[in-house]
Amino acid sequence: MEWLGHLPKKLPIDPEKEILKLRSLKVLDQKLIKCDACPRLVQWREEISEIKRRAYSDQKYWGKPVTGFGPQDASVVVVGLAPGAHGANRTGRVFTGDSSGDWLYRSLHKNGLAKIPTSSSRFDGQELIDTRIVCAVRCVPPGNKPTPQETAKCEPWLRCEFELLLPTTRSYLALGSIAWKAIADVLIEIGEELPRKRPKFGHGAHFKFQGKDGNTRLVIGSYHPSQQNTFTGKLTATQLDSVVKKAGRFAHAGKPL
Ligand code: SF4
Repeated sequence: MEWLGHLPKKLPIDPEKEILKLRSLKVLDQKLIKCDACPRLVQWREEISEIKRRAYSDQKYWGKPVTGFGPQDASVVVVGLAPGAHGANRTGRVFTGDSSGDWLYRSLHKNGLAKIPTSSSRFDGQELIDTRIVCAVRCVPPGNKPTPQETAKCEPWLRCEFELLLPTTRSYLALGSIAWKAIADVLIEIGEELPRKRPKFGHGAHFKFQGKDGNTRLVIGSYHPSQQNTFTGKLTATQLDSVVKKAGRFAHAGKPL
C-alpha cells in the first residue's frame, strides 16, 4: 500500500469557488461547515474543542465553522465578528452559550425579534423572528482577532449570505467596528451604492442607502456585547436595546411583527 503515500493531498476548500452555484442558505450552510480554508483557524477551533473549558469538559464541542441563524427571509441582519471560543464554537449556534449571547438574545427578545430571552444550546427552542444573525468570520480566531487575510478568505461566505438575504433585508445591525466595515465592504462588493460620506463606526452611528431594487435600507452600529464592553459599562443594556429597537422598527415600518 506504499503507493498511497503518493496520492495528492486534499486541497483546502476555496470559498470563492464554493459560492458560485449556491442558491439557498440551506446549501450555503451545508458547504460552509466543511470549510477548511484557513489553516491557523482550523487548528485553533479544533484545539479549543480538545482542551475545552473545565465547566464544559463533559460536552462535545462543535469545533467547526458556525453558520448564520434565523429565517431565510429575514428583514433584520445582525452581524458579529466571529464565534466565541466556548460559546458558538462549543454549541454550534451563533452567539449561543456565552455572555455576549445572553446580552444579544435578551435584547432581541425584548424587541420582539427572538422567541425566548436566552440562548444556551442548539436545542433550547430559541427562534429568531424575521432576524438572522451571522458572523463576518465563521471560525473562532485566537484572541478574537482574525488576520486581514483570514477575514478576506471568509468574506465570500458573508457575501453569498447577504446576496441571498438581500430581497428581504431592510436593516443591518453591526456589532463592533469589524462588522461595520464588513457590512459596507460586502454591500459595495455586491453592487450596492452606499453614500460616499458615511459616519465612522460608533454606537448608534447609522446611514441609509437606496438599494438597486429601490428599497431603502439602514445600517446601524452597536458596540459589541463582549464581556469586556458589558463588564466595563462601555455598553449598557439600555444602549443595546436602543439600537436593536431602531433596527427592528426600521425593518418593520408599516408591517407588524
Ligand atoms: S474562517 Fe471562514 S474561510 Fe476560514 S476556515 Fe473558517 S469558514 Fe473557512
